[in-house]
Amino acid sequence: MKNIKDIAEKALYYTCPYCGNKSLISEAKIVEQKDKTIRKETKIKTGALGKKYAETTEVYSVYRIRQCPKCEKSKRAKSSFILIMCAVILPIIVGIIKMSFVSFFLSVFLGLILAGIVYAIFVDEKIDIEDAIEKNAIETNLF
Ligand SMILES: [Zn+2]
Repeated sequence: MKNIKDIAEKALYYTCPYCGNKSLISEAKIVEQKDKTIRKETKIKTGALGKKYAETTEVYSVYRIRQCPKCEKSKRAKSSFILIMCAVILPIIVGIIKMSFVSFFLSVFLGLILAGIVYAIFVDEKIDIEDAIEKNAIETNLF
C-alpha cells in the first residue's frame, strides 16, 4: 500500500529545490536551466555586398525545473529591486553629484549592465540536478 501512496504523492507534489518546501506540481512555475551544449553549428553566410561571414548557433538541452510560486515571487521582487537600484536610483545619485544629464544617461546604461551581473550572481542560482531529480522537481515530458 505504501507504494501506491508514494506514486500518488509523486504525481501531485514536489519539493522546491530553491527553498525546500513541499509544493503542488499544478502550481509550479518552470525555470529552464541549461544542461549541456549538444553541438555548435557554424554556417558561412553571404551578407550585403557579397561579403561572407560566419554565424555560429549553439544547440543545447535544458532541464525544466519546478519552482514554487513563493520563490518565483521573491525572485521577481529581488530582480525589480536590483533593477531599480542600479538603473534608476544610482544614475539619479550620479546625475545629482555630477550635475549632468550626460552622466545620468551614461549611468543608466552602466546600471543596466551592473543589474545583469548582480542578478546573475545573487538571484539566478544554479540548481544541483541530481538533488532536484530526487525532489521530483524536474518536469519530464512523458505525455
Ligand atoms: Zn520555493
